[in-house]
Amino acid sequence: MISCCGINCSECDAFIATKENDDKKRAEVAKLWSKQFDSDIKPESINCGGCLSESGPVFGYCEICSIRKCAKSKEIPNCAHCSEYACDSLEGLFKMLPECKENLEKIRQTL
Ligand code: SF4
Ligand code: SF4
Repeated sequence: MISCCGINCSECDAFIATKENDDKKRAEVAKLWSKQFDSDIKPESINCGGCLSESGPVFGYCEICSIRKCAKSKEIPNCAHCSEYACDSLEGLFKMLPECKENLEKIRQTL
């Protein structure tokens, strides 16, 4: 469940709220993320089957994420598999979410 950029989607609150179909959790996540990302996220938009989901919904921001688009265009499961690793976009993300780097580095050790 590692996303293109290295997030562990199985631990993501939006993924958990969707899996459990829990509207209370959706409301909590929407409130928290609205504050965190300084935007107006509605509980009904908290629906996600994970970054790599082919059939299920993908949360709005992750769906349009340029890193995800880039990895998909290269037909690789995540950035760990990229010959340009770690590009500037990814380095920028690592500063905000260091766990992404840890997860991708772990994958790279297995390649
Ligand atoms: S793709 Fe979905 S599950 Fe993964 S981080 Fe984004 S919102 Fe969470
Ligand atoms: S160029 Fe960067 S964002 Fe695109 S797949 Fe490679 S590492 Fe990921």
